[in-house]
Amino acid sequence: MGWGRAGARLARRGAAWLAVASLAGCATVEQSAPLSTIRELTVTPSDPTAGCAAMLWPVDGALSSPFGRREGRAHDGIDLAVAEDTPVRAACDGVVAYAGNGLRGYGNVLILSHSGALATVYAHNRALEVRQGEVVVRGQIIARSGQTGRASAPHLHFEVRKDSIARDPLGYLPAK
Ligand SMILES: [Zn+2]
Repeated sequence: MGWGRAGARLARRGAAWLAVASLAGCATVEQSAPLSTIRELTVTPSDPTAGCAAMLWPVDGALSSPFGRREGRAHDGIDLAVAEDTPVRAACDGVVAYAGNGLRGYGNVLILSHSGALATVYAHNRALEVRQGEVVVRGQIIARSGQTGRASAPHLHFEVRKDSIARDPLGYLPAK
């Protein structure tokens, strides 16, 4: 099956998922992310050329907050401090599973679905440059950074999910 059909399928699933999404934001986490819902976004594209073995850094910014527990609350990604309007790039080839501002706390957010049951999340953007269902390639500019949602300063909140579960992105990104 080609990318187009896979993308359309993901778009439908993304829309259904959004209706029940209640993800915790970057700065405030009042409840755990419902893993059964984000699972819908980790469908594996069938294109074998769309590997995600080597991710690239979505922005070049200082790590301002690490993955993991923070003041007793889960932080499902890493925060990278960047100036407003910095280009945000796709970490690897994939399909836009969600593009919008419907996830509480995330502001304007993109979710890309990749092969290998991987998904990446890009939050707090000022502007989104791609639409749900679009195929993107590694390094493509997909958004412009900002501080929408729960963010006290411009930064990119970046998540990597494997089988729907948030993992430390530093385990997937090349060492700086
Ligand atoms: Zn964050």
